Amino acid sequence: MRNTDFAIAGGGIIGLSAALALAQLGCSVTVIERTPFRDGGATRDSGRVFVLTQSTVSLLDRMGVWRTVGPLTYPLRDIVLSNHVPADRCAAHPLTFGDHKGQRTPLAFIIAERHLKQALVDHARQSGRIEILGGRTITAQQAGQQRILLDLSTGEQVAAALLIGCEGRGSATAARAGVKIHQRDSGQTAFVQTLRHDQENAFRAHQYLLPMGPLTILPVGPHRSSVTWTLPHAEAEALKTASDACFARALKGTMGANLGPFHLEGGRVSFPLTSAIAERFIGARLALLGDAAHVFHPMTGQGLNYGFRDIETLRSLVATARQAGGDVGAPALLARYQLRRRPDARMMRLVTDNVISFFAGDNVLLASVRHLGLRTVGAMPPIRSFLIRRANGLREPLQIPHENVRP
Ligand SMILES: Cc1cc2nc3c(=O)[nH]c(=O)nc-3n(C[C@H](O)[C@H](O)[C@H](O)COP(=O)(O)OP(=O)(O)OC[C@H]3O[C@@H](n4cnc5c(N)ncnc54)[C@H](O)[C@@H]3O)c2cc1C
Repeated sequence: MRNTDFAIAGGGIIGLSAALALAQLGCSVTVIERTPFRDGGATRDSGRVFVLTQSTVSLLDRMGVWRTVGPLTYPLRDIVLSNHVPADRCAAHPLTFGDHKGQRTPLAFIIAERHLKQALVDHARQSGRIEILGGRTITAQQAGQQRILLDLSTGEQVAAALLIGCEGRGSATAARAGVKIHQRDSGQTAFVQTLRHDQENAFRAHQYLLPMGPLTILPVGPHRSSVTWTLPHAEAEALKTASDACFARALKGTMGANLGPFHLEGGRVSFPLTSAIAERFIGARLALLGDAAHVFHPMTGQGLNYGFRDIETLRSLVATARQAGGDVGAPALLARYQLRRRPDARMMRLVTDNVISFFAGDNVLLASVRHLGLRTVGAMPPIRSFLIRRANGLREPLQIPHENVRP
């Protein structure tokens, strides 16, 4: 039987980051990951890139991971939000969030999923307090007065003060604990595709809230961009098996003059989109973090960032409990975790789902209202600034380390 302070189910980005944050407090951590870790690393490439907000960067920096990850990121200097549809005059007045005061600090940072994950695996392996058990799942969990006892698929057993569920959507630990997950199928599929293009993107992101679904273009180099193109399932189905030339033509038709001529780089991947929230983020000696607790539409670019907020909250509660010599799996600690995290995640899910619905559909009258909404926000600098700070998870402006970032 292995004895550990924390057992983490799921060695994705949130599971590994939680492991590192807790190990830094002097705790022992066992990560149980379904996928075998090939060659000591986790390199399965989903092709996705993530926007990391300032609060996430700050946490990665405190965990000592930013020094590895920073040089692999791209700065995001501007975001242009528009409800542009071809031949729609409204598009002439997009809403821009960005570096208008000439500050050097980027709005956020962009990184490929595989780079972030590999850096986390490397740091976890070097920490000396984290054991990663790849190619295993938990088959049973039983919470007692002091510990939670886990049976693994290999016949091994692990006893921990707290089990942390980080298996992403459809968490098995949540299901075994009887936690209900409220799910909503958005009826949409997102394609992720990298483009190489002639025009420079000036490290500016574009988000188009189109009737078919949002289209997001993120800069990953001056002449490279990662596109997340959301479509209703039926339209997406036809494009899944389309040739590259056919897919590129369809995408060009949606992107219009954006970025000039482009060609596709690498394969395209597709993700069916749902939003979800767990009825409870906690159970007996159990806490749910990341997508195991909440799933948002990727147009927010916040799923992972909210997972990092979960980690930060749990880390600080555990630090306080340990200083006082308390139990890190105590019901009072878990109740505080839920109180701090669930309302925040619930609000984000509510706002995102409603924004998607508001901008979906082709009604001309609604299009004018949508346009008015964007212009109104754009005309109010305090509201715009509030939105940026909120999206970045900040209460106060923050200085973040960015000297190693790619130009
Ligand atoms: C197209 C797209 C773009 C996105 N862009 C952004 C963005 O820009 N910014 C952002 O913040 N978020 C973004 N997101 C959301 C982000 O991808 C997720 O929030 C994030 O990946 C969740 O990480 P996680 O570690 O919680 O879960 P996952 O990434 O799902 O990891 C779960 C891990 O648990 C393992 N696992 C599963 N079941 C078991 C089991 N039974 N036992 C053991 N292990 C198990 C899996 O193998 C995996 O390693 C995007 C999402 C999509 C679909």
